[in-house]
Amino acid sequence: MDAVVLEENGSPRLVDRPRPEPGPGEVLVRIDRVGVDGTDREVVGGNHGGTEGAMVLGHEAVGTVADPNGTAFSAGEPVVPTVRRPPGDYNEYFRRGEPDMAPMNATVECGIDGADGFMAEFVAVPSEYLLRLPERLAPAGFLVEPLSITAKALELAEASREPFTWERDRALVLGTGSLGLLTLPVLDERFEEVYCLGRRDRDDPAVELAREIGATYVDSRKTPVDEVPAAHAPMDLVVEATGHAPHAVESVSALAPNGVAALLGVPGDHEASVELGERHRELVVGNRAVIGSVNAGYSHFERAVEWLDSLPPSVVDAFTEHVYPLREFEAALDRDVIKTAVEIGP
Ligand code: NDP
Repeated sequence: MDAVVLEENGSPRLVDRPRPEPGPGEVLVRIDRVGVDGTDREVVGGNHGGTEGAMVLGHEAVGTVADPNGTAFSAGEPVVPTVRRPPGDYNEYFRRGEPDMAPMNATVECGIDGADGFMAEFVAVPSEYLLRLPERLAPAGFLVEPLSITAKALELAEASREPFTWERDRALVLGTGSLGLLTLPVLDERFEEVYCLGRRDRDDPAVELAREIGATYVDSRKTPVDEVPAAHAPMDLVVEATGHAPHAVESVSALAPNGVAALLGVPGDHEASVELGERHRELVVGNRAVIGSVNAGYSHFERAVEWLDSLPPSVVDAFTEHVYPLREFEAALDRDVIKTAVEIGP
């Protein structure tokens, strides 16, 4: 079967691999589509995850059950796989059903770090790591995984504000990449005003989509993150989706009292000289919080399926516009558009 693999210190290649044989409790899934995001580009660039030897790329997948292999699944059902697997034997995080809370040395991530991903014609997936998807959502099913990232971040942010009355009027997303843009419609449903900060011109398609979703665009070249309160309003929630480390620190100053910043980006090393006292003060006397969040658990994937079902059709269209056949996977990895995906199945 065809598979796109990344060899250690190499470039991604389309190769022939044996079709996997599902073991006990595993479902054979025919992969239909695999989304590409910033993490994939970081992995290909050697800045994130990787593995010894060759690794099949891709972690945002939707497929169809080819062989239920005695599990509760049925042939022909659309399914989405989760991303984390135990690194060998089950550990406490996987036993508790909280793989997303495992430290990086207690998990592997399919297509990202230490385990084969889903950019292949077939994969064998333990049934506990598969979700059913309504047929009508299958063409956009590769958006479930990135939506699950937002679902977990929002849950952690809300939990940190749970003990008091959190007045949640305004939210700001940092980044006009696929994760940031996909977070906007979710926040638009839950906040009165939504802002999106980026460094692109107003006629860029990503900025146009952000505005179409209802967000007020903030150009960070004119209004840096910490000047957003003065230029617009203080934010009750900031979701950082850039991986640009200064944004993480500056997000504290963009918050309203009692606000929370959820950091999602995975930065490289970044040295800078910053006045820390003011940020520390803002956190303490403003009862503000900063949380980090990575990956997502099964319940977040379930919420993501519900969210996908309620996305405006125009948003789904924008995210599914650039789907390439498998032999053109390089275009999907390279192209700078709202979202790309690779189509593998029929
Ligand atoms: P994209 O590459 O699609 O988007 C990245 C965004 O960050 C773009 O808006 C980009 O701007 C902006 N950006 C990058 N560098 C800078 C910079 N130096 N200054 C200002 N803006 C910058 O990635 P995704 O949307 O897929 O992911 C965003 C981040 O979240 C990545 O770091 C990714 O690794 C991480 N991530 C984390 C997950 C988690 O579980 N925590 C899950 C998925 C992703 P421009 O396009 O104009 O260059």
